[in-house]
Amino acid sequence: MARRICLDCGTLTDGTRCTTCRRPRERAMLQAKRQRRPRPTHAEDKRRAAAVAAHRREHGDWCPGWRRDPHEASDLTADHVDAVAAGGAESGDLQVLCRSCNSAKGAR
Ligand SMILES: [Zn+2]
Ligand SMILES: [Zn+2]
Repeated sequence: MARRICLDCGTLTDGTRCTTCRRPRERAMLQAKRQRRPRPTHAEDKRRAAAVAAHRREHGDWCPGWRRDPHEASDLTADHVDAVAAGGAESGDLQVLCRSCNSAKGAR
């Protein structure tokens, strides 16, 4: 690759900027990306609670089961079908499971 001169400090580099000048920019870009995907909000918590309430109205204290048979459970929680950490959308579909099934699912 042809040697070039860093746009910011004039050091020889093989990109548009040397690694020293590139790093703060990458960090700023990462930060901007993170801001676009906020942590679970109050509205999101409410949406999860509503999903659990709707499930209870329809099925009662009943967990559909994760890799096990449906069973009775009073500690139901709603979680994303596609985990947000794994690239799922924050507004994606919710799935109601009991805590133990949910953590089994999270550990897959
Ligand atoms: Zn530089
Ligand atoms: Zn369960």
